[in-house]
Amino acid sequence: MNTERNCQLCGGVPEYSNYEIDRDTLAVQCIRCGRFKITNLALEALRPEQKPLLSAFCRRARQGNNFVTILSDNIEQLIASLPKYSPPEKLDNLLELMAEMTPRVGEYTQFDSDRDYPLLIAQNRDEVEYFTQELIRRGYLDGTMDGLALTMPAWERLEQIRKSGHASTRCFVAMWFDDSMREIYDQAIEPAIADAGYEALRIDRHEHVNRIDDEIIGQIRRSRFMVADFTGQRYGVYFEAGLMLGLGRPVIWMCRKEELSAGGGLHFDVRQFNFIAYESAAEARKRLRDRILAIEGEGPVLRGPA
Ligand SMILES: [Zn+2]
Repeated sequence: MNTERNCQLCGGVPEYSNYEIDRDTLAVQCIRCGRFKITNLALEALRPEQKPLLSAFCRRARQGNNFVTILSDNIEQLIASLPKYSPPEKLDNLLELMAEMTPRVGEYTQFDSDRDYPLLIAQNRDEVEYFTQELIRRGYLDGTMDGLALTMPAWERLEQIRKSGHASTRCFVAMWFDDSMREIYDQAIEPAIADAGYEALRIDRHEHVNRIDDEIIGQIRRSRFMVADFTGQRYGVYFEAGLMLGLGRPVIWMCRKEELSAGGGLHFDVRQFNFIAYESAAEARKRLRDRILAIEGEGPVLRGPA
């Protein structure tokens, strides 16, 4: 066993670092980077700026006892699969990590910026220190010589994040489950949500075991926003959109144009909202995508009367 060789990703001293029998693949176990195997070809191809990202990937992978295998031709793919967080999201994520590593409320967090920076997808410990100072400045952390502890406002903030679906990448789709709606879902709604970087969740296409009402309410709570298509004017769509508005989160309103026009019969209460009235799936896809991108970054805001 060779313990002198530094970790190829973080430069630290690994717990284990050894060539496999073929001497073509290095197997490493590192307190920062987790477990990975990397081929000689991958080591040659590796660029310095890719190292902290691979370190983050391997540490976050947590595949039991398995090693993440880094090959010369999957480096880009591994990096691309990492989520991309804005600085405010990273601030919240750091608070979440520190909370997860707090044994009991009031005790010090065991999060260690030198060891655990890959969990935040940070470049190094300095980046984590920057966010830590910001959490202290905002009153979410109490810092002493011995450690850092989350304050009660921090626990309140975490509860608020969980309730708001703020960190969620899911979009709940409320619509009529009918074959006549298949084209608009498959060719407009689902791809528009994916184009904007979110994941569509339509309850009848989602495996579930709970009672349908509990399942719907739970999924709505965990979604960042909602796309509600009122074509067919089903009671369930009104109900689900009403729930989302009650949570104070964005609802994007859609309807086939002929049903929205005068005499179309759409329920009076929702006619005040700014509908995407579409005539074709292609048009709906483009307008929906633009509308989703427009709400991004606004956070939980009531999409009030237009
Ligand atoms: Zn390492």
